[in-house]
Amino acid sequence: MKTRTVLIMLTLFNVCQPAFAEIQINISVDWEGRSITANNLRAIEAFNQEFGKIPVLHFLNAAYFTKPDVNFAQVAREMRSALDANDVVGLHIHAWKSLMTSAGVEYRNTPNWNSGAESCDPDCGHGVPLTAYATEELQKVIRYSADTLVQQGFPRPIAFRAGGWMANLNVMQALAANKFRYDYSGLNRDVIRGSQPEIYRWTANLWSHITNLTQPYVIEAAANLIEVPNNGCLADYMPARKMIAVWEEYVRAWQANPRADYFISFGFHQETAAVYSSRVAEALRVIIAAAAQRHIPLSFVAYPK
Ligand SMILES: [Zn+2]
Repeated sequence: MKTRTVLIMLTLFNVCQPAFAEIQINISVDWEGRSITANNLRAIEAFNQEFGKIPVLHFLNAAYFTKPDVNFAQVAREMRSALDANDVVGLHIHAWKSLMTSAGVEYRNTPNWNSGAESCDPDCGHGVPLTAYATEELQKVIRYSADTLVQQGFPRPIAFRAGGWMANLNVMQALAANKFRYDYSGLNRDVIRGSQPEIYRWTANLWSHITNLTQPYVIEAAANLIEVPNNGCLADYMPARKMIAVWEEYVRAWQANPRADYFISFGFHQETAAVYSSRVAEALRVIIAAAAQRHIPLSFVAYPK
């Protein structure tokens, strides 16, 4: 190629690229489907009051609606009370017995990453990975869960996170069959190596390639579902100083290549919000102040731009 042609192409390239890209941060809340308590709702409310402009992605769980003697209106009201106007609804599934059975799927009790005997009164199965089920069974429980949320007045979710980050290709194909566009189950495994040894081992063949800096990518074998890795992990396993360290890694990457967009995923659980949401809040205060002071473009998003 002649020098002149190369120069023209480079000039065009520069013109077509935005001058500055952004570091995008996604904050998510995983709703485990175990219980909803006033102290955790209060913690989420406090988080919303401080960070109301952030579009939090709530991975809601339909298993609250399949517990024995459930008061549907009350559960829906409690869930809705945690959602701000800017917030977005996604779907979280743990293979609870009540949920699988309600979805017309035969419950399996093994394997289970929660060690020790588990009572099925009122429910069990939180630690059974979705990977224990076949694609058709997964399709059923995903469809049932999404339909249940819609029946209770929530928007139909298009983003998903698997319980224990246990999403294999079967899960992703079942998501694609239900018109989901994003899977947020990808995990930076190093973070949970000590605290969740079973999940750490069981995700070896799923997420060994994910690091702090892994960016969203396309899963062609699941109808181009977009994999959005939980690269900043969840607050139960991630103190504020470690979240801030991940952010600083991204700042260095952005400084090296300010034309690229970067996406970070942090989060906490509804069931432990009273204990751990403060870690996310603490990290966000530092990150927001540092971005303003150092002129680092920062945005908060539910989905990658
Ligand atoms: Zn979960």
